[in-house]
Amino acid sequence: MKYFPLFADLDRAHVLVVGGGEQAAQKVRLLRKTGAHITVVAETVTDELRELEDDNALWIVLRTFLARDLEGQRLVYAATGDRALDAAVSRAAKARGIPVNVVDAPELSTFITPAIVDRAPVTVAIGTEGAAPVLAREIKTRLETWLPANFGVLAERAQSLRAVVAKAIPDARSRRRLWERLLQGPFRRAVLSGAHAEAGRIFAAELQGAEAPASGRVVLIGCGPGDPELITLKALQRLQEADVLVVDRLVDPKVLDYARRDAERIYVGKTPGGPTTSQAEIDRILVREASAGKVVARLKGGDPFIFGRAAEEIAALQAAGIGVEIVPGVTAAHACAARVGLPVTLREHVRHFSVVTGATADGAPDLDWQALAAPGTAFAVYMGVGNAPLVRGHLLAAGADPDTPVVIVENGTRESERAFATTLADLTDCVAAQAIAGPAVIFLGLDWERAGLCRPASVTVHRRQRQPVHDCNGKDLIANAEAPL
Ligand code: SAH
Repeated sequence: MKYFPLFADLDRAHVLVVGGGEQAAQKVRLLRKTGAHITVVAETVTDELRELEDDNALWIVLRTFLARDLEGQRLVYAATGDRALDAAVSRAAKARGIPVNVVDAPELSTFITPAIVDRAPVTVAIGTEGAAPVLAREIKTRLETWLPANFGVLAERAQSLRAVVAKAIPDARSRRRLWERLLQGPFRRAVLSGAHAEAGRIFAAELQGAEAPASGRVVLIGCGPGDPELITLKALQRLQEADVLVVDRLVDPKVLDYARRDAERIYVGKTPGGPTTSQAEIDRILVREASAGKVVARLKGGDPFIFGRAAEEIAALQAAGIGVEIVPGVTAAHACAARVGLPVTLREHVRHFSVVTGATADGAPDLDWQALAAPGTAFAVYMGVGNAPLVRGHLLAAGADPDTPVVIVENGTRESERAFATTLADLTDCVAAQAIAGPAVIFLGLDWERAGLCRPASVTVHRRQRQPVHDCNGKDLIANAEAPL
């Protein structure tokens, strides 16, 4: 080890940055996380640095570097872009025994700045002694996703309780055991999920020597449309904390790889026409598991609040006095639109976009067909494949243009993804001829042409081979004849 890692206290320390370009600004951004008094010496500075000076965040000296600038400085960074000047700064700092870092020049530096994962007061510093910064970045990325964003809050909470714990438990070993229980168990989970009152109760119980009363809760997690990389960092954290996973059919099995391997799994699939767990049964399972003191992750496809029956589950849990947290997810329409490069709103053209369901409890969708048929309307139909003929018929009967563009994305973001572009007139034919059977989003009123974009080659155009029969107004009589009136 050539470089010895240590953490420098920069609170109120004077730090000099020589240089006023982007590299200097990067150092300033880092230093601003501390309480250092920052001075920038440079002939010109970026707008960002000037604005920081306006906010009194630093002090700028607009001229070239002079050795006397080093007086009283604790650390020096040189990032002038001029190697001779950088070397002069390095020499002058070394002569005064002030630690100096020259950006991208370890040979001119007496210290280097590590890659940092900032969960202050928890800070992780990663260094490769300049050998392979890309590797440091890889480790940083992993830690950034692994450590909860509010991990520092947990450390702060522990800090605030240190004195109380030290007074109550003089024996060092018992104290360490308490800290392990607090920082790895229900107390930690309560703090990280923002349940501070609950955390306070758990702490009080643990301090009394009692095992904290197991406090179960449920996290409703939106797991996105399939691609496991589309889950949020928060979903990842919550998955790793869960004791039990209650999993919907639409959740991609790959998402479950993020959960603890020893977490129990309960599948509550609702397969259209297949075995089904009733909503009442799902509600009962959630209440039962959380009441047993477990942390329950309720995994739902897409976003829990979009056609996810979240309200029923939340109501059941609230009635049982069980805490619920909601973690949003990427809904199918947004993911599918992204896959085929189809913006769902367009300046000037599409100012309104809605999501509708193509299936209801009693089968037939009961929608405002007049409104949906109006020109310029754009919407996504969920659960619409089975009722595609009905949707088409209702829209045509309500006066929708048979040429309204339709885009269907089946199994969006999964390996089996397929996408089709057709028209309202040909919707039923497309669904049947292409044997669309997986979960699919049907977009109406959106196309690439109007957005000034090209249709991706991955999208298959489907048009029925038929001779249109037009009436005197140019209306296609075949399409009209098929509309159930
Ligand atoms: N809460 C989910 C929707 C559940 S309803 C969400 O926000 O996405 C189920 C419907 O979602 C399916 O019938 C289909 O219309 C849509 N869907 C879910 N996953 C999909 C996928 N990977 N590709 C296309 N549509 C999908």
